[in-house]
Amino acid sequence: MTDKVAIREVGLRDGLQLITTQLSTEQKLIWVEKQIKAGFREMEVTSFVPPKLLPQFSDATEMIALSNKFKNFTPTAIVLNKKGAERAITAGTKKITFVLSASEKHNQANVRCSTDESLMKFKQITNLSYTKNQKINIAGAIATSFGCSMQGSINENRVLELASVMLDAGACEIILADTVGYANPTQVKSLFSKLKSHIGKCTMAAHFHDTRAMGLANVVSALEAGVRHFDTTLAGLGGCPFAPGASGNIATEDCVYMLENMGFNTGINFKELLEVRNYLAEILPEETLEGKLSVAKPAINSTTG
Ligand code: ZN
Repeated sequence: MTDKVAIREVGLRDGLQLITTQLSTEQKLIWVEKQIKAGFREMEVTSFVPPKLLPQFSDATEMIALSNKFKNFTPTAIVLNKKGAERAITAGTKKITFVLSASEKHNQANVRCSTDESLMKFKQITNLSYTKNQKINIAGAIATSFGCSMQGSINENRVLELASVMLDAGACEIILADTVGYANPTQVKSLFSKLKSHIGKCTMAAHFHDTRAMGLANVVSALEAGVRHFDTTLAGLGGCPFAPGASGNIATEDCVYMLENMGFNTGINFKELLEVRNYLAEILPEETLEGKLSVAKPAINSTTG
């Protein structure tokens, strides 16, 4: 039996945060539809942050309502506080990703409160989903889990403590994010191996940025530690506007290509995936698209899913 790996495309959220081109809701939905056709089952389609802060996501409510219409597909959204969660739940979001940061300095810059205050907000949100009597899956994402450009190194135990509190409060998934590309493969294996003993039946996921070219090496290390869920962005778009030096995520197409050639089953059709990338080139003509595979083309004896 082939080992399955799930890829969650986060290009529509992480990928759009740093770019100036404002996509229309229609363009975003075509992107979603094309990616579903390529085999994706989960995509982070928007963020319920104040529209004044990131106008790119002013259509968050519409994006959820319209993405909910696709079958066998889970559109997810980022929230940072209770107000965002209320908006997300009202919009009909079935899976929410709550983000806090292991770095106090980054948490202050990103959401203007301490990490402990963010933890309190996480608990409020899990309560909110119970009181509204709506079954909502809530993932807890820990930004700067592997290092921070404002604070420097991050204590592993602090990351594990944050994960434990969120798991106890009802998180269905813990995502460890390398927001500014500080992680190295040894560190990744160590932290995910430790997280594994806390995770129980919940999912552990990795979110890597390729800022220092260690993204795919970190994926291999995470696989060795038992991770089977990864966040990626098509054409390596992405970056956090509140983290100095942040740049793009690992490119979806490069990651899928590597996994398939290592013998994992991603369920993604590579040819269709490159079609989506061509669409991105059309709608984002001003942006630099990263990723090696679209230039090099798959090797003739390769597995492309
Ligand atoms: Zn990110």
